[in-house]
Amino acid sequence: MPWRNKPTPYAVWISEMMLQQTQVATVLPKFAHFVACFPNVRALAAAEEQAVLKAWEGLGYYARARNLHRAATIIVNELGGRFPRTAAAWRELPGIGAYASAAIASIAEGEAVPAVDGNVMRVMARFWGITADIMRPASRQTVYDALLPHIRRADPNRFNQGLMELGALVCRPRKPLCPSCPLARDCVARKTDRTESLPLKSRPKAGPHHAMVMLVVERQDQVLLARRPRDGLLGGLWEFPQGRRLEGESDVHAVARITRAETGYAVRVCGTLARVKHAFSHFRVTVLPVVCRCTGGALRAAPDGAELRWVTHEALKALPQTKVAREVGRQLGGEKRQGRAPPQPGAR
Ligand code: SF4
Repeated sequence: MPWRNKPTPYAVWISEMMLQQTQVATVLPKFAHFVACFPNVRALAAAEEQAVLKAWEGLGYYARARNLHRAATIIVNELGGRFPRTAAAWRELPGIGAYASAAIASIAEGEAVPAVDGNVMRVMARFWGITADIMRPASRQTVYDALLPHIRRADPNRFNQGLMELGALVCRPRKPLCPSCPLARDCVARKTDRTESLPLKSRPKAGPHHAMVMLVVERQDQVLLARRPRDGLLGGLWEFPQGRRLEGESDVHAVARITRAETGYAVRVCGTLARVKHAFSHFRVTVLPVVCRCTGGALRAAPDGAELRWVTHEALKALPQTKVAREVGRQLGGEKRQGRAPPQPGAR
């Protein structure tokens, strides 16, 4: 992995932010693209937030990108361009928690602090036979405290990376490869035949589900876009205006109501695209994209503070967009390439 071959603080920091809740295979090309766009912390601090969000596109959890940008600004403007040297100092920066700060400080600076991520929790819960719920913060602190004397006697960089790799490759969530494991001789879970039942992990509650209507309003070669309010979920990203369909409301009625409320325009419905499902950490949505033509009215501010703007289909590609908007744009592009109008609505 490029950030491991040459573990500069910048490379380790960017990679650790990207790897949170994201697979290594997804991160590899995005990391290469991101550091090509912003080769160092000064370039990142000098960039427009929109450019940072665009380079982050596809990784999700955009708060991480905004925090990276804010932290880069602090490093350049307040720390004279010098990176923090300790985990405690890294933790002062936006978006950097206990795990990330320890990972960066141990890998880039050799500080003897355990980096306890989900993989390490699983390995140690099995190795020590920990029966507490590993999702509880107290369990993480227990493992951190127990690892501390061991890492002090070792090379912190290799110790942390070794444990993480062991969790990723050998002590896997299902069917751990115990015969190949260097910890096998002393592993409590293996000796007591509990490798499948440990660790104990409570499931987060499934959040509510919302049916949404997304308006793809077209005018000549332009389409209407909304930029989400900067401080909310997916803040600063572009999408097509949308609203929640009310309980028992028909799609047709929802389109008319949401168009009036979100844009001020009157529209004629031309058709729908395929529904798009998306899961956020605390709720799920099913989005019905409705393609419309603007027939009158005047643009006015969206009630949630979103910025509305007409853009050409070409300009749309250069804007950082939500995942759902990109999928809707992809469907729309497919319909246009095939030279046909979107399919007619199966409106209720
Ligand atoms: S022996 Fe098996 S369960 Fe124990 S740490 Fe190794 S891979 Fe995990």
